[in-house]
Amino acid sequence: MSVNILFSAHPDRWPQYRDHLQAAIAETGITFTLATEFDPAEVDYIVYAPNGGLSDFTPYTRLKAVLSLWAGVESIVGNPTLTVPLARMVDQGLRQGMTEWVVGHVLRHHLGMDLHITGQEGLWRSFVPPLAPDRTVCVLGLGELGQAAGEALASLGFNVTGWSRTAKSIPGVTCYDGETGLLEALDSAEILVLLLPDTPATTNILNADTLAKLPRGAIIINPGRGPLIDDNALLAALDSGQIAHATLDVFRTEPLPPDHPYWAHSQVTVTPHIASETRPATAVKIIAENIRRGEAGEPFLHLVDRDHGY
Ligand code: NAP
Repeated sequence: MSVNILFSAHPDRWPQYRDHLQAAIAETGITFTLATEFDPAEVDYIVYAPNGGLSDFTPYTRLKAVLSLWAGVESIVGNPTLTVPLARMVDQGLRQGMTEWVVGHVLRHHLGMDLHITGQEGLWRSFVPPLAPDRTVCVLGLGELGQAAGEALASLGFNVTGWSRTAKSIPGVTCYDGETGLLEALDSAEILVLLLPDTPATTNILNADTLAKLPRGAIIINPGRGPLIDDNALLAALDSGQIAHATLDVFRTEPLPPDHPYWAHSQVTVTPHIASETRPATAVKIIAENIRRGEAGEPFLHLVDRDHGY
């Protein structure tokens, strides 16, 4: 019997994915139909992004799995109508994109590039940054993306620390875990990168108390998720000088509303959730492999842990 695969994402994505997906799934040897519309009762797999608008999975009575195109699954993981396995996107393209974005923004702040890029006013401003080994960069979240970014920063010579829920051992990265581990990690974090998922346990993890634990003048870089940061606490910390700058890619409300104080704040850089896009050419291979596994009765890759929410 032919396998029906529904592509449910923003309509813009369909032309970007269609041919790549078609080719990757064909390579598995499965007989399938890939489309953006089906009778829900006849769908076997959903290739999913939240911006497709699908939120009620009840009519999908034959569904075997939902395969997310996104790494972050906070908008779907608690959906009570979703009772089949949920796999998230883990992909080399995502890792590479995030590593480049994080390294770029860390280097901007480490080297003090803004001093010479903006507002030179004819002034010969001398600024000698420390070398990377004398700069501590801390990555909160040592998963697929945090580990890759941490390793890249370590390979440039930075003193890299990181924090995760469970204990980790990563060459070149001093790893912390647990509540006391967070405080130890924050204590030396001159540049703090947030690559945690958005879960009940991580909401507002950066708040007035944790911001106060950072060295004075620390830099925040958040490509993780908006709710990781208590926005009012961050604005207060920026105004007091506790935090020197925040580079933010993700927000509680996206697009960030035009009247949000972050836009006008001179110590905030806003980027529009572009840190790392899922790249169709590589991501479709993960989707196809999971469909192959589903049809072969093998365990899916990158299953979301519903209890932990990521
Ligand atoms: P991942 O592999 O699931 O890694 C998540 C990391 O966070 C893991 O190290 C995990 O610890 C840690 N963690 C989770 N809950 C924690 C807690 N309560 N306390 C301490 N550590 C905790 O996720 P990923 O693929 O690296 O992606 C991370 C996030 O990046 C995504 O969830 C998404 O929000 C964001 N993202 C953003 C963009 C963008 O363009 N801005 C693109 C892709 C992804 P354990 O290792 O112990 O489980």
